[in-house]
Amino acid sequence: MLIRTQRLGKVFGEAEHRLGVLEDVSLSIESGEMLAVMGPSGSGKSTLLNILGCLDSPSSGGYWLAGESVAGLGAERLAALRNRYIGFVFQSFNLLPRLTALQNVELPLLYAGVPAAKRRERAVGLLGDMDLTDRAGHFPRQLSGGQQQRVAIARALANRPALILADEPTGSLESRSGEAILALFRRLNRAGVTLLVVTHDSVVAEHAGRIVRLRDGRVVSDQGGSSAQNGAGIGLADEGPR
Ligand code: ADP
Ligand code: MG
Repeated sequence: MLIRTQRLGKVFGEAEHRLGVLEDVSLSIESGEMLAVMGPSGSGKSTLLNILGCLDSPSSGGYWLAGESVAGLGAERLAALRNRYIGFVFQSFNLLPRLTALQNVELPLLYAGVPAAKRRERAVGLLGDMDLTDRAGHFPRQLSGGQQQRVAIARALANRPALILADEPTGSLESRSGEAILALFRRLNRAGVTLLVVTHDSVVAEHAGRIVRLRDGRVVSDQGGSSAQNGAGIGLADEGPR
């Protein structure tokens, strides 16, 4: 079991500004799964992803990452877990504009203390895997959206994470580039990377073996996974047949 949450809750703000965003989210993710998290805007998808990615802490409930209890850990320990286990991919790519593609991919390796020659070798290899060898010296602004996202995926993979968390990774791409990103994710998943993809695109979700649906901060259905609990029974009717 790579991830387990138990009755996870998240509340933002205090007193009259108090906003409950996640409630009773109990989720288990096995190593090697590819799952999509879907739900309307504001349903808590990004909040959940940030907590799973150790970028934010839950307000209540439990979270175990690779067996270690995460809820209540301090910022430093969270950062260490993040660097060791997790790679992030965002809708807006989040590449550093003043660094080349190669330098962007090298950056997490630098933070991890990998020596320069090794950093270079690994980053060149990853860009090659992403079919970007001839773009290594380009800056983000010189790349298409799809190319930028492939650089971001190479960067996410740099420290060989067990888990990739992607928040609407195809949301800013035209459909052709989006499909290429999805094909890439499937290939990574076959190679053993666990993938959690937040999306509101049902085409994207169909590529995942498992679909978890959120509504108002709660899991309303969890279908298709090896450990899925099928048939929470709500939240499906208005999505139509697939
Ligand atoms: P989704 O990704 O499903 O669109 P989010 O997780 O981004 O939803 O947001 C869920 C709710 O939490 C929204 O109402 C949003 O305004 C609120 N929210 C998210 N982050 C914060 C924050 N840092 N402070 C206060 N409210 C937040
Ligand atoms: Mg979001």
